[in-house]
Amino acid sequence: MKTYNNLGIRKIINAAGTYTKYSGSLISPEVIEAMKKASKSFVDVNKLLEETGKYLADLLETEAVLITSGAASGLTLSAAACMTGHDQKKVSQLPDTSGMNDEIIVMRNHRNPYDQAIRIAGAEFREVGNAIETSRLDLEAAINDNTAAIFYFEQSSLFRASLGLEEIIKTGKKYEIPVVVDAAAELPPKENLFKFTDMGADIVLFSGGKDLRGPQSSGLMLGKKDIIEVCKLHNYPNHAIGRPMKVDKETIMGLVRAVELYLEEDHKSRMEWWADKSLEIASSIDNYEIFDISVAESTQPLTQPSIIPRVFIKINSDNFKMPSLSKGEILKKIEQKLYQGENPVIVVRDKEAVIINPHMLKKGETEIVATKVNEILEELVNKNNLLN
Ligand SMILES: *Cc1c(COP(=O)(O)O)cnc(C)c1O
Repeated sequence: MKTYNNLGIRKIINAAGTYTKYSGSLISPEVIEAMKKASKSFVDVNKLLEETGKYLADLLETEAVLITSGAASGLTLSAAACMTGHDQKKVSQLPDTSGMNDEIIVMRNHRNPYDQAIRIAGAEFREVGNAIETSRLDLEAAINDNTAAIFYFEQSSLFRASLGLEEIIKTGKKYEIPVVVDAAAELPPKENLFKFTDMGADIVLFSGGKDLRGPQSSGLMLGKKDIIEVCKLHNYPNHAIGRPMKVDKETIMGLVRAVELYLEEDHKSRMEWWADKSLEIASSIDNYEIFDISVAESTQPLTQPSIIPRVFIKINSDNFKMPSLSKGEILKKIEQKLYQGENPVIVVRDKEAVIINPHMLKKGETEIVATKVNEILEELVNKNNLLN
């Protein structure tokens, strides 16, 4: 049997988070077990989606749930549903949107790389606001006869220029326009599984392969029954825009199990473990009088889940002598060297810091990460003579 090792695929130590590029998260033996069981029989896929949806809607205290092949395909299905409604002729016509309302309103500061998942349904964005502010009037002025939905990217709520979700939902209700919330990576906290639907969002999307630790190619769509019924028309196994977004029965049953486990899990002790591990790593890194090593929650938008404490390695300006390398280059070097050699470690890097996120670390990996960071920092200090 081929393995990662004999294929020459390096096993990565994940100190970055649930990044799709690095295979998201790890699924538990219980989830694998559910997938194995599911693999043994043929079933009617429509019926399977129907019944798992009802069961999860009950667990998640919402009207309806649809398991999708990921939050991104949930975006495509949502956009499609908001444009066509129940009209089967329109469903078959996509991505040609002639004769349909095909504009999706979005705040400028909510545009993100997953936009394309919405555009492949044929929808077009109509932007409101700017980098500094968005007013309720801007939003209302953008609503017109061609409006299909309002899209909200939950992470962007941290931006000053973002209107709050409450306000968006209020406006959506006033004009009878559905609000779609991308909450793909907004777990933990567990409460978010309930929060956005409770607030009245029409569709809320989560990834199954991030903190839920279900199959990597799964997603959860939660929300209002009527619109989710339309999403089903667009979805696999029907011949429609979602047909290429297949979710196998094993994945469906695996995600159901993952949600059950998530709801039963002790999230307080998970949070404590992350806090402990961050402190453990931070306290075992030598600062060489150049680096500032601290543990904090992320205050930056676009580093979710922000409630997990992580280690920040910054460069202390006072003791940093300007060598041939700039601060940014040093941070980049640290990131690159962590990924090289034995035990490749992935981390996050921004303008100010190399960030070690314990979210996806396994037991026993903290020491490896700390040791490797220490070796790299020491080498950098010695070789490049960074000290004053
Ligand atoms: C990960 C992510 C997605 C895509 O989710 P998948 O489940 O990988 O399809 C969409 N939006 C945001 C904000 C994400 O973080």
